[in-house]
Parts: sequence; structure tokens; C-alpha cells
Amino acid sequence: AATPSPLPPPNPAGSPECVFAHIRTPGRNTLAGYRATGGYQALRRALQELTPADVIEQVRASGLAGRGGAGFPTGVKWQAVADAPGAPKTIVCNADEGEPGCFKDRALLDYDPFAVIEGMTLAAYATGATRGFIYLRYEYPATYHLLAQALAAAREAGYLGPQILGSDFSFEIYLRRGAGAYICGEETALLNSLEGRHPFPRNRPPYPVTHGFEGLPTVVNNVETLASVPPILRHGPDWYRALGLGEQAGTKVISLSGDIQRPGNYEIPMGLPLRTLLYDWAGGPLPGHTIQAVTMAGLSGGFLAGDDLDVNLDDPSLRRKGTFLGAGGIMVFDDRRDMVQVAADAMAFFAHESCGKCFPCRIGTQRLHERLDGGGPSTWEAWQQEVADLGRTMRALSACGLGQAAPMVTDSLVRYFPVQIQAHLAARPADQVQHEKE
Ligand code: NAD
Ligand code: SF4
Repeated sequence: AATPSPLPPPNPAGSPECVFAHIRTPGRNTLAGYRATGGYQALRRALQELTPADVIEQVRASGLAGRGGAGFPTGVKWQAVADAPGAPKTIVCNADEGEPGCFKDRALLDYDPFAVIEGMTLAAYATGATRGFIYLRYEYPATYHLLAQALAAAREAGYLGPQILGSDFSFEIYLRRGAGAYICGEETALLNSLEGRHPFPRNRPPYPVTHGFEGLPTVVNNVETLASVPPILRHGPDWYRALGLGEQAGTKVISLSGDIQRPGNYEIPMGLPLRTLLYDWAGGPLPGHTIQAVTMAGLSGGFLAGDDLDVNLDDPSLRRKGTFLGAGGIMVFDDRRDMVQVAADAMAFFAHESCGKCFPCRIGTQRLHERLDGGGPSTWEAWQQEVADLGRTMRALSACGLGQAAPMVTDSLVRYFPVQIQAHLAARPADQVQHEKE
């Protein structure tokens, strides 16, 4: 039987939270429990007091940006759908959380499903959408049943369906399961999958805001983004903005795992120093060990190590280090780990999950994996040259984020761990090196 995901640990610094503010309250995942902790106040107020344009303006003013990884401004996306011609419009909740090391959406859906449903309903009111889909990762079967129950309860109580809360606004949500493919988390592959087509990513532009589900205007938002909307409307955009540190707006849930004392989901103020999260919040490395490296954005942001661990967790700071926050997965590797092997495993994952539509990614991920796994040139200069060439080609010519992100693993491995790579090359069998010379 599927086990429920762990409840997020209490916020270690007591810092104000947005999406986790009530998640630990027992019963929050029932309709009664949700309503008892402020649930559906935002929707009721929006329907009674706010125009759709007001809702979009509040979301825009809050600074909320896509929490699935790409950070596109949510208010701008909603405005584009509201302005786009064509109907019916659709709200898609991307719950196909496939990035290795990311498990925040599962926790949100397990412990606060109505927040996501209310967020989708507010998105529909704001944009004029009448139908919605939750596209749920196949590997979350317990979550599927919880969500199905939550949707039925919301429908029964008049929060979904025709004439919501007695207004003239109607909206229905359908629950769909993926089939275990990482690529279906890419929004246009997801839309193709929802339509029953082969899940190749589509070329963009046009973006889903104008050409989404069935070619019609569609909002595709991540679970965490949608769950942020009801508290933002309840407490106001200034409240949300002020949750971040310095210039940064809001919060981000980080899924922390690996060689760390207290792994789990943490909602951090945007801009929190990485070391504060690792050492003060999560207890630091396991006894007798040191942190050698972390991955960012699950695997998609490659590694951070050495002095670069002194970075703040916000995209401008991380971009300066050649990485990004992405969906917020951070995996910790201590001094026992062979980082070349870690990179080889990461590349094997990308090679396996490449959809194969474009050859730089389909072949490039395989070639990079071979070079991390004992194949390719045995001299450091030739190895480095080939890996850099492959990465450049993949970044320039891959059609979606998978092929563009995979070389971040090799780029960052070369940046931080040249000595470990050279040790691997030196350990190759003599006959392979001889063969290359011939
Ligand atoms: P993107 O920057 O191309 O787009 C981000 C969003 O903004 C999309 O919804 C897109 O439709 C919209 N958008 C962009 N430009 C637009 C425009 N001009 N007009 C209207 N809408 C526009 O990023 P992406 O390729 O959609 O996503 C990549 C991200 O996904 C990566 O950052 C990665 O971290 C993340 N990711 C997440 C998971 C996960 O499990 N959550 C898994 C893999 C990757
Ligand atoms: Fe498919 Fe890779 Fe091309 Fe993306 S980059 S469309 S995953 S082959």
C-alpha cells in the first residue's frame, strides 16, 4: 500500500510561511479543517468584492513567480490568458513532480489539497477559464485518492461546479494521472499527454497562454504556485512580498535530501543563505563528515561546491554561480561520495528520460553518460574538450529544458571536481588507453 509523504518539519527558524502556514494543523486536508484555518475566505471575498482584473493585479503585485522551476511572473501569465481570444479556457495544475530530489508538491497535495484547488479556482475566476485539470505524477497513488476525495468534497459543498457559492461563475476540475515519464512535466508535453497524444514537447512560441490545451488559452501552473494564491489574496500582496529577504519576494519550498541530518521540505524566505539552510535549519552533515557538494534544481542545476556554497537561495545570486533554484530540490553529498559516479548516475537518468524528439539531447545525453562511465578519451584534455563540445551543442540545439539542463551536470563537475575526474581517467584499463593511442 502507498504510504503518505512525511509532514514537513516545523520551521526551524520560526520564519513566517505562506504555503506551509497551516499544513501541520491536524485535519487541514479535510474541507472542514481547511475552512477552520482560513480556507476559502479568499475565494468568497474574490467572488463578492473583486473583479477578475483585481485578482490578477493582486497576484502581479505580490511578485509571485512560477514555483515549478522557471520563475515566470504568475500575474503576467494570468493576464495573457485573460486577454487571449478563444474559449473554453483551461487551468492546468502541473503536479507531475518528476525532478529527482523534489517532493514538495506531493506534501502540499497530501496535507493541503484544498489550497491547490482554491488556487486553481481563483486562477479560473481571474482568467475566465471554465475547466481545469490536475495532472498528477503516476508514482503518487495515495495522493490520487486523497485528491479525488477532496475534489468530490469541494464539488459537494458548492466550491466547484456550476454557479460557485451562488455566483454566476462556474468551474470544474478533472483529475488525470501521468504514466511515469519525466518529460510529461514539461508543460507542452503534459498538454499533449492530456490530449491523448504522444508526449513530445511542442515548439514554443506559441506559448500555452494562447495555444494550450486543445489549442486554446491555458494557464499551466505548478502546485506550489497555485497553493500560494489563496494566502496572497487573504493577506495581501505586500504581506507576500515582505516574506522574502532583501529585494526578494515571497518564499520557496526546498526539498532537502541526501547526506544531511534533518532532510525534509522547508519553506524558506527567498534569499536565505544556503549555509543557513544546511547547517542551522537542517543540522549540517552527518557526524564525522563534511558536505562536499549539493545539487541545485534537483539535478537540473548541476552541482555547487566549495566557496560557492556561500550563496543565497535566490535566482539572481544563483545565476552568478552558474546555476538556478528550479523547483527547489537540493541533494547533499558528503565527503564519502564519488562525484563522478554521482554525475554518471544523473546523466543516466537524463539519457533514459530524454524523449528522443531532437538528436542533440537524445544522443548527447548518451554520449555524456558514456564519458562519465568509463568511455571516451582517457586524457584529461581530450575528455574535457569532448564533454565541453557536447554540452555546447546540447545547450544550443535542444528543444526543451531537459537537453538544455543536462550539461549543467558535466559543466559543474569539471568546474569543481577536475581532480576526481582525472583520477577516474587515470584508473582506466591500460588496454583502453593503448587502443586510443593506436
Ligand atoms: P520557461 O522559462 O520556458 O517557461 C516558464 C513558463 O513561462 C512557462 O509556463 C511558459 O509557458 C511561460 N512563458 C515563458 N515565456 C513566455 C511568454 N513570452 N509569454 C507567455 N508565457 C511565457 O521554462 P520551462 O521550459 O517551461 O520550464 C523549465 C523549468 O522547469 C526549469 O527551470 C526546471 O527547473 C523546471 N523543472 C521542474 C521539474 C519539477 O519536477 N517541478 C522537473 C523538471 C524541470
Ligand atoms: Fe525531447 Fe530532449 Fe529534445 Fe526535450 S531536449 S524535446 S527531452 S529530445
